[in-house]
This record gives sequence, C-alpha cells and structure tokens, in this order.
Amino acid sequence: MNQVGATKFADLHIHTYYSDSTSSPDEVVQEALQNQLSCIAITDHDTVDGIGPTRQAAQAVGLEVISGIELSSEIHEKDVHILGYCFDEQSPLVDALGQFQQARVDRIRIMIEKLKTLGIDNITLEEVCSLTKSKSVGRPHLAAVLKEKKWVGDISQAFQKYLGEDAPAYVGKFKISPEEAVALIRNSGGVAVMAHPMFTNKDEIIPSLVRAGMGGIEVYYPNCAETTIQHYEGIAKKHDLVMTGGSDAHGKAKTNTYIGKRRIPYEFVEQLKQRAKQAV
Ligand code: AMP
Ligand code: ZN
Ligand code: FE
Ligand code: FE
Repeated sequence: MNQVGATKFADLHIHTYYSDSTSSPDEVVQEALQNQLSCIAITDHDTVDGIGPTRQAAQAVGLEVISGIELSSEIHEKDVHILGYCFDEQSPLVDALGQFQQARVDRIRIMIEKLKTLGIDNITLEEVCSLTKSKSVGRPHLAAVLKEKKWVGDISQAFQKYLGEDAPAYVGKFKISPEEAVALIRNSGGVAVMAHPMFTNKDEIIPSLVRAGMGGIEVYYPNCAETTIQHYEGIAKKHDLVMTGGSDAHGKAKTNTYIGKRRIPYEFVEQLKQRAKQAV
C-alpha cells in the first residue's frame, strides 16, 4: 500500500432516512468528514433514493459516494442481507425495487390490521410511512410509532411483544432467495457482497452464492471479535472474494455504531470497482 492509499479510508455500509436510519444526507456527510472518511457507500434497504441527495451534499466537500444497496433475502426462513455496490443506477435492479417497496407497504398495512385485533387501534399506515423519505418502510418504523404512542416502553419491547418473528402481529416479508439477490445485482453491473456474515451465521450458503456470482464478503463489521474477522478473511481468500466493511450506521436508530466506527483502506474500494468492471 502506498502512502496515499494508507491515509484514505472508506465506510461502505451506511443507512439514511430514506430507509430506517434517522440521518439525513447532510448529517451523513458531516459525520463522514468528522471521522476522516474519503469515501462512503449509502446502502439503504431496498431503495437507492438516498444516493443522489447524499452525492449532492458530498460533492461540495470532495467526499466520494459510491452506489450501494442492501437487499433482504431469505433462506429457510432466515434473513440473509445482500449488499450491492457499483451497479448501474438505471438498471433491472432499480426497476425491481419498486416491487419490493410496494410489498413493504402492503406488509405494514397487514401488520397494522393485526395490531387492531390486539386492541391497538390508533396507528395509521400514513404515519408509519411518514417516518421514511422513500417507500422502504419496515418493522423499525412501526416499532417507533408503537413507542411514540406508549403501547410499549422501547423498540426492543415492540419486537418482543408484537413485531418479532414469533410475536402476534408479525407478517413475513416478500422474499427473494439470496441467489436471486446476487443475480439481480450482477445483472445490473454491480458486485454482490454478503452482508455481516457473522450475524447471518449461515456460512454453509457461501459456496452456492459464489457460484451464483457473488463477488465479495463484508469481513469488517463493528462490534465483533478479532477472531471472527480473521475467520471471514480466510473465507474471502478461499473463494477469491473482495473484502468489504463498514459501520452499518443507522443514526439514532442504532446506538452501538456510528459512521466510521468500522472503516476500510481505500484500496479495498479500488478492488471493488475492479471487480464491477469484470462483471460486465
Ligand atoms: P424488516 O426488514 O421490516 O423485517 O425489519 C428488520 C429490521 O428490524 C432489522 O434490520 C433490525 O434493524 C430491526 N430489528 C429486528 N429485530 C429487532 C429486535 N428484536 N429489536 C430491535 N430491532 C430489531
Ligand atoms: Zn436497517
Ligand atoms: Fe443488514
Ligand atoms: Fe445495514
């Protein structure tokens, strides 16, 4: 690594209020600068709407913003998040997002109906949807309204009592398989990356994702042991995957991380860009 490369850092996993973070594009850019980042990726859930506004805010201060997304997929009823980077922003991926977002809104509508049968009758779809700037609405937004209206004391209680997978108001999400998510990103000229594999805890699916065209793995993630990081460095090497990393910052919606808490040397971004070129 040369001197310039050594002094540049990136955080490639950041959410905005276009999905379930509380942060605006301006706040993201300010926090990135305060934490000495040269490059960030906005990886909102099922929407690219936050990328343009963040890029606009970043341009003035010379911060690079690369295209990103975090798609939800499912295997054996377990969530697998697939990150996408450096894709064509006018592509089949972006077209598919409209369908995912509509499914998210329909799902929240059904969850609100279920809450009504449990006696919680003062929540509207409009107020839940108003908590995000795009249509990428999810359980964290519904949890926030449950808290605001004092049906629960905190967000974690909202999941425990009502919204968690085993709770009475839970509704499954419109799901694609992890392989389909990988294909969607690849077919849009991007690099598909397995998000936080240490939390997904399903290493056995990695070979199949590699066969489907996955090009990277999120090795560097906050709040995990050094031995865990080393384990995924080994997996990346074994399957020739680009190693990525980031903070998974969600503004005030997630208190155990912040922009820049996990950052990677810029040379990993260069590898990602290189891999995206190979995908075309
Ligand atoms: P959704 O995509 O709508 O199913 O919402 C999933 C999101 O809800 C996750 O990404 C977490 O941010 C959040 N979440 C899931 N389970 C919990 C929990 N037990 N407590 C707090 N937040 C949770
Ligand atoms: Zn999130
Ligand atoms: Fe995730
Ligand atoms: Fe995330």
